[in-house]
Amino acid sequence: MDILWILWIIHTVIAVEETLMDSTTATAELGWTVYPVSGTSDNSWEEVSGYDENMNTIRTYQVCNVFDTNQNNWVRTKYIRRRGAQRIHVEMKFSVRDCSSIPNVPGSCKETFNLYYYESDSDAATRTSPPWMENPWTKVDTIAADESFSQVDLGGRVMKINTEVRSFGPVSRNGFYLAFQDYGGCMSLIAVRVFYRKCPRIITNGALFQETLSGAESTSLVAARGVCVPNAEEVDVPIKLYCNGDGEWMVPIGRCMCKAGNEAVENGTVCRGCSSGYFKPTQGDELCIQCPINSRTTNEGAINCVCRNGYYRTDSDPLQMPCTTVPSAPRNVISSVNETSLMLEWTPPRDSGGREDVVFNIICKSCGGGRGGGCTRCGDNVQFTPRQLGLTESERYVTLSLSLSLSLSLSLPPPLSPPAPSTVSIMHQVSRAVDSMTLSWSQPDQPNGVILDYELQYYEKDQSEYNSTTIQSQTNTVVIRGLKPGSIYVFQVRARTVAGFGRFSGKMYFQTMTEEEYNTSIQEKLPLIIGSAAAGLVFLIAVVVLIIVCNRRRGFDRAESEYTDKLQHYTSGHMSPGMKIYIDPFTYEDPNEAVREFAKEIDISCVKIEQVIGAGEFGEVCSGNLKLPGKREMFVAIKTLKTGYTEKQRRDFLSEASIMGQFDHPNVIHLEGVVTKSSPVMIITEFMENGSLDSFLRQNDGQFTVIQLVGMLRGIASGMKYLADMNYVHRDLAARNILVNSNLVCKVSDFGLSRFLEDDTSDPTYTSALGGKIPIRWTAPEAIQYRKFTSASDVWSYGIVMWEVMSYGERPYWDMTNQDVINAIEQDYRLPPPMDCPSALHQLMLDCWQKDRNNRPKFSQIVNNLDKMIRNPNTLKAMTPLSSGVHLPLLDRSVPDFSSFSTVDEWLDAIKMGQYKDSFANADFITFDVVSQMTMEDILRVGVTLAGHQKKILNSVQMMRAEMNQIQSVEV
Ligand code: AMP
Repeated sequence: MDILWILWIIHTVIAVEETLMDSTTATAELGWTVYPVSGTSDNSWEEVSGYDENMNTIRTYQVCNVFDTNQNNWVRTKYIRRRGAQRIHVEMKFSVRDCSSIPNVPGSCKETFNLYYYESDSDAATRTSPPWMENPWTKVDTIAADESFSQVDLGGRVMKINTEVRSFGPVSRNGFYLAFQDYGGCMSLIAVRVFYRKCPRIITNGALFQETLSGAESTSLVAARGVCVPNAEEVDVPIKLYCNGDGEWMVPIGRCMCKAGNEAVENGTVCRGCSSGYFKPTQGDELCIQCPINSRTTNEGAINCVCRNGYYRTDSDPLQMPCTTVPSAPRNVISSVNETSLMLEWTPPRDSGGREDVVFNIICKSCGGGRGGGCTRCGDNVQFTPRQLGLTESERYVTLSLSLSLSLSLSLPPPLSPPAPSTVSIMHQVSRAVDSMTLSWSQPDQPNGVILDYELQYYEKDQSEYNSTTIQSQTNTVVIRGLKPGSIYVFQVRARTVAGFGRFSGKMYFQTMTEEEYNTSIQEKLPLIIGSAAAGLVFLIAVVVLIIVCNRRRGFDRAESEYTDKLQHYTSGHMSPGMKIYIDPFTYEDPNEAVREFAKEIDISCVKIEQVIGAGEFGEVCSGNLKLPGKREMFVAIKTLKTGYTEKQRRDFLSEASIMGQFDHPNVIHLEGVVTKSSPVMIITEFMENGSLDSFLRQNDGQFTVIQLVGMLRGIASGMKYLADMNYVHRDLAARNILVNSNLVCKVSDFGLSRFLEDDTSDPTYTSALGGKIPIRWTAPEAIQYRKFTSASDVWSYGIVMWEVMSYGERPYWDMTNQDVINAIEQDYRLPPPMDCPSALHQLMLDCWQKDRNNRPKFSQIVNNLDKMIRNPNTLKAMTPLSSGVHLPLLDRSVPDFSSFSTVDEWLDAIKMGQYKDSFANADFITFDVVSQMTMEDILRVGVTLAGHQKKILNSVQMMRAEMNQIQSVEV
């Protein structure tokens, strides 16, 4: 066993000796106690100055009584403190006179001496105590010389010095004395060093072992537990080393390895995060590896490399594999119809996007059947041979047996785009009744393709999840019927694309109305419409007004009307000369003329559509290239009007181009032109790489500096100033209608008009109101109440955009109902500052939300104000969580109550930090009790490196703690 252990010794580590006493370092007399006392006998030990082997002066003790028998000469050291040691080592250097070299020496001459120790808790020894005899001393050993010398010669000639080390233990008192007993020799005790041994602090096998004292016996092994070095984690547990009696580490057990994202450097003693552009996917000894082609890291210590924009990885692609992109379109698609069958063949795409596993899907739509003229997906009545999806290169010949007229397109999406849409992050209750409710949710941040439909799953909160009901919805709004009154239901939703279903959203809870609430709401509803008139009269007036509005709209006659909706007046005369004024395209008798006047007609041959990037009001929004004669090719966004449109839809669609075409400002989206002479009809604008501002901010939560955010706000204000100067009232200013390009330049967009119209019920953001639809949360009270839309009401909306920007795309007023929002605003409640929002910016928001629209700042003042802030960033340092004055802030609900969640995972999802679920679980932060105690250090330890995310989590933890305290005090 001993031999095996010796093999385990870590040879590179030298044992540490800690000296307790060293006679050679004495600068004055050693002053040890001798017996018999000097003076009573001439023959006892005597302190003498001498030299060591290097001729340094030292203090020694000598004795030489070889001619007298019955010698018993003792010398006792001073009290030596133990200092925690359990085993003591004594190194003695001495010389002994060889008895045979002394003429006429008696037989009692000795060449040895005895070493003793005596333990004591204090320095209590006297000249007589402990007695000078073996008991009570403990004998360590009789020490004999290896070499004796023949001539007494401390003066400098031949000097043979013996060195002997003895050890003893266990010792347990505070200290001890040593004694040397001579019983008839001639010797010199040249040096005495007393020490103990310990195993030093070391880092080995990825773990740190603290300095450890050796055990009481020479054979004892003291176990020490190792702690993984930072960024390493245990592989085999326990992690142990043993410290042997000689102060050497041995028998290593277990080990730690650098975590994923970290590599071992400095001889394996440090785990360092992979540098930028490198990653390490797993725990282990390997080094970080360079990111594969078309990928990059977003921070140091990366465990994977994310694909660059436009490049993807499938679930089964190894992380070491380059990211690949969407292949180009299949070529030479040929179809031939044979009675009720259609043969389809094609050649593979020119560019496979870097992949070898390209497969083909066939999308089949039945078009032009109904009166609307739209397309719907083919049903089961179409058979595909060999199949519809996942066709390989060798299967490029497909037969469709059909019973309808079909429009076919061949696509290649699934293997390359991320396989499924991301989760829906927010769901809200649009309305509720006793037995039903209407819910609506945002599209997933990363739809990864066209969303085919949504699946909503729900169950009563008190029931088991297994009893849930599932419903499908083609839109992101659904009415759920057949619910119980006053009951809380749990909802989850997920989106589906051709790649399949995404993950379900976190659980969200909504309650139906109780009968009582219903009765009160009926009573309250009537006065809300007009004020205090009798219900029948109110209804009558409402109908009349609606008729007037509808009539006026039809005839485009809205002179002096309060109900001018999105449509504005052609004003001239009272404006300063040279100032361009916006002209409402609907003031033209033939709106097509407005299109011709304000939008350039582009020939379809100049346009190359590349891919679908979103869904607009009237059809798909695509990206593509525009190559005008004599101009450089440019990247553009192309809004298309879906086939089967009505004349009115075409007019409404193109009205946006007639409006946009009148503007020319760096912060207003630029119109390149329209395609109206061929199908599909298109509006072509500059391309904005980062898409709409709200989703862009949500995707980059916490990642910008305040100055960057203010820079974005400044751009929007500047664009709005330009529009206001042109007398254009936007009426739908919101982050979703701002587009962002690759340089973070924000541009006002969305000059469409259709969403305000009564008959469009698809988008819950726009709530039906008298005379059209209104985005309640963004709209000034006077515009909601009596449709007074002005640049001052745009300023109100701008304040809401500021709030959206500073909260990184949070929904204004969270999940409050529209009616609650209206009531709260009426009672002078205003949104509180988002987290980390400088008070100067919140003050500006509050100014924009002045009840009296004349007191709101003008866009020119907002631009100046923001310019000042950008020039003096110090003004952005002050943060006041709550403001005073007439505007009472609403309770800050950006951090949801933790008590509405049953797991830490759900809570993380709700604060939009779901990406850290695994990290929290790995670090054992799995209960609210533990999470509520988290400090910034814990958050760092969990692996949250982005400052914005750290703040968000810390803030939410603090809210949780406060809420817990509240709950506890209530319980008390
Ligand atoms: P819209 O019809 O303006 O609501 O457009 C629908 C979506 O298409 C927007 O939310 C954007 O994501 C995208 N989109 C529209 N215009 C552009 C553009 N010029 N550049 C890039 N993306 C755009």
